[in-house]
Amino acid sequence: MSCVRFLVQQGIRPLVFDTRDEPPQAAQLRELDSSLELHCGPLDVGTLLACDVLIVSPGLDLRMPALQMARDAGIQLVGDADIFAQYARAPVIGITGSNGKSTVTQLTGDLLAAAGKKVAVGGNIGVPMLDTLADNVDVYVLELSSFQLDSMHDLQLHAGALLNISDDHLDRYYNREAYAASKQRIYLNAEQGVWNREQRSTAPQRLPFAQQLSFGTDEAEQERPGLLGLAEVDGTLCIQFAGQTLIRADELQLAGVHNLLNAQAALALLYSLEHSLDVAFSPAVLDCLRQFRGLPHRCELVAEHDGVRWVNDSKATNIGAAEAAIQGLRPLVKGKLILIAGGDGKGADFSTFRESLKLVDELIVLGRDGARIAQHHSISTQVKDLAEAVQVATSKTIPGSTVLLAPACASLDMFSNYQERGDVFKAAVKQHVAEVAHG
Ligand code: ADP
Repeated sequence: MSCVRFLVQQGIRPLVFDTRDEPPQAAQLRELDSSLELHCGPLDVGTLLACDVLIVSPGLDLRMPALQMARDAGIQLVGDADIFAQYARAPVIGITGSNGKSTVTQLTGDLLAAAGKKVAVGGNIGVPMLDTLADNVDVYVLELSSFQLDSMHDLQLHAGALLNISDDHLDRYYNREAYAASKQRIYLNAEQGVWNREQRSTAPQRLPFAQQLSFGTDEAEQERPGLLGLAEVDGTLCIQFAGQTLIRADELQLAGVHNLLNAQAALALLYSLEHSLDVAFSPAVLDCLRQFRGLPHRCELVAEHDGVRWVNDSKATNIGAAEAAIQGLRPLVKGKLILIAGGDGKGADFSTFRESLKLVDELIVLGRDGARIAQHHSISTQVKDLAEAVQVATSKTIPGSTVLLAPACASLDMFSNYQERGDVFKAAVKQHVAEVAHG
């Protein structure tokens, strides 16, 4: 819809295709321009072949036969990023990775705003990038999914960050290598690359060393500018840039090592714009980092009741994200760590989840692939929905416990999206707390 709106504004009248028989936004489309042609249902190759350019939604698999045939016939397949590229008049920062994209995108936007920039934040995070185009923007910060990168050719990035690569969306790629290659596309037209030293596969394969900034859990060496890292200073863990301490880890509201990496990635992106420690990491910027509380549905504390903490990490839609939540929270849990997981596993191999599941005392599973996760833990209970999961979890808690919803799966088998799943969980927890409070 964002693409159609934008094209219509530019005086271009696209043909519109939707593979669903009754697209939910058909009425909206008609309101926008009742004369637009809308083709519903399976893609008709003949009609596609009559087009000059296909702007493909990231929701469609580029391997679909009709799209492949169009590509083979020489028709350009692009995404909204390529249209955005033609109109954006300010530096663009792009962020991708299997996990942490939205957190880093929002944080980078907030930090840049604290630095006094007029910043537009968009892309996969929610606001379509074309909707963010404006004349008075100093810098664009875009979250880019691998699907968006697959159809992106022309967007020049001032800096691109690849946060991490773990198994996800293997139902949309031929194999892991193809998924990783898709993530590497972030560096295709980037002037600078920000990458994660914990995973060599995130390093830009084609950018010279001088155009790289990296972050990690090891120390940031003094003589190597461009390096962010972690170091203990007087017994306290700190984020450092080239050996200089920027901020103490315990000053942040965000929990878990993964969030220390996220914070470093955002700081690296700020540095990519200024290349001066004093300007990029001003007191206002560091203060903003101290205040940042994260986004909803990401390790969000829902309630603390009777010594039990209830945490909603519904956005953990793959194994890597659930692992980060488990590993981040485990050191903070004095009683039991009870995990609620399951949903649509998107073809993932859950045996790789086993190590992290060892940190979990009890497992409660639901959804299409819940049983496949349960195979990798000795104490598990299958439930039908989240209300029952909350009930079962309650019966298993001891004081000091944490109940964590981190499904390691997409929500689409039971919910319309991860937000709805998180909201249902929060409502069930709140109802449980209220019932207990009223005896
Ligand atoms: P994305 O936009 O890539 O899905 P989010 O910032 O929305 O990322 O976070 C999604 C989930 O991934 C969260 O539930 C969180 O627990 C986990 N997560 C966040 N940052 C990281 C990271 N750097 N590494 C691994 N997991 C992470």
